[in-house]
Amino acid sequence: MSSRGCSGGSSCSGGDGGSVSLATLMKRENSIEKMEKPDILHGYANHCKKGEDFTFLKPECQRVHGNCVSTFSVFGIFDGHNGSAAAIYAKENLLNNILRAIPSNLDRDKWLAVLPRALVAGFIKTDKDFQDKAQTSGTTVTFVIIDGWVVTVASVGDSRCILESEGSLYILSADHRLDVNVEEVERVTASGGEVGRLHVAGGAEIGPLRCWPGGLCLSRSIGDMDVGEFIVPIPHVKQVKLSSTGGRLIICSDGVWDALSFESVLRCCRGLPADAAAKQIVKDAVQFKGLRDDTTCIVVDILPFEKISLPILPPKKQGKGVFKNMFRKKSSESSTHHSDEDYAELDIVEELFEDGSAVLAQRLDLDYPMCTIFGHFACAVCQIDIKPGEGISVHAGSSKSGSVCPWDGPLLCTSCQAKKEAMEGKIPSRDSSRKKAGGE
Ligand SMILES: [Zn+2]
Repeated sequence: MSSRGCSGGSSCSGGDGGSVSLATLMKRENSIEKMEKPDILHGYANHCKKGEDFTFLKPECQRVHGNCVSTFSVFGIFDGHNGSAAAIYAKENLLNNILRAIPSNLDRDKWLAVLPRALVAGFIKTDKDFQDKAQTSGTTVTFVIIDGWVVTVASVGDSRCILESEGSLYILSADHRLDVNVEEVERVTASGGEVGRLHVAGGAEIGPLRCWPGGLCLSRSIGDMDVGEFIVPIPHVKQVKLSSTGGRLIICSDGVWDALSFESVLRCCRGLPADAAAKQIVKDAVQFKGLRDDTTCIVVDILPFEKISLPILPPKKQGKGVFKNMFRKKSSESSTHHSDEDYAELDIVEELFEDGSAVLAQRLDLDYPMCTIFGHFACAVCQIDIKPGEGISVHAGSSKSGSVCPWDGPLLCTSCQAKKEAMEGKIPSRDSSRKKAGGE
């Protein structure tokens, strides 16, 4: 349940000019790392109805750079629909596909900087590989990577992730339900999809907005090969840095969010340890709405070293959740990098990165110094080697197109380029057998 380490000694003032043993140095380094890193305590709970919700809980993953080994934590929820194959496949393969898209031996700052791009590549590769297996079903994914005080969340679908820190609420995931996301309705429609409600006998329209063919309520997911390819796996990614007071992350499937508001979820578990908090949230959600869907919750407490629990602070302001809009983007069409001054006054949670765009060229693009750490002739999505001259620039077809010189990249292989064009509605989806059946 916990990645809490053994107590690190704080007496590292030795070595007064004389020789210091390697063991002492290592011990010193170890204790410094522990002081700088938060403790990660997590709990989860699930109430099963269809058996299509899956969780990924890996509080200690290792990363090697140079002679150092550091750890990071990964948590995820996969809410499957139309079967559980996509959810299981994503749970088993997504992390590897993300890590493959990160060059080895990066220092921590560079590792964190390339993570949003690697998440995009990993989500698309997972979707593409799953579709190659020609199985039906799809899944939402909300994937959280915690490295030190930096939290990076990538999401497709509607399994939301929120953060409470010092009494303020932050929303770290997107909501890709067509019913609430006008920008996504516009994108899907522009790419050739049809968005509308279910028609019943007599012509009445019922239920949430769905995308046709397929009848899916979501605009993004992994899998869903029987739906148009404009239902893309490109995740919304948000990266924030917590202050050293820490915070509580709550990731839930829609079984919880359909029953409880963000505020009531935070309220019902305040003061409880992570494990009991997750159980309480699921219990409240089921009590409120009955067990109508799989109901799953992961609670992760990010705590200052050797603190046992978060301080119980009242919400900053009652009722409205003022801070939750602070990080909400005006438009998902552009990425944002905030300077420190923007949030200096708040000094609670600093936003490092956010981008929710479905434009792949934008999501894979790199500034010049950053591109030098990537192999110039590997596909930016699936990482296979591309022979010189055979790659296709992600900017091909846009105003930035032209001959491919060493950095007109990033480059895609032929297969990933075809995927890109299908996602943009430029070529027909792989499955032309259009269904007009109901169901999610
Ligand atoms: Zn590729």
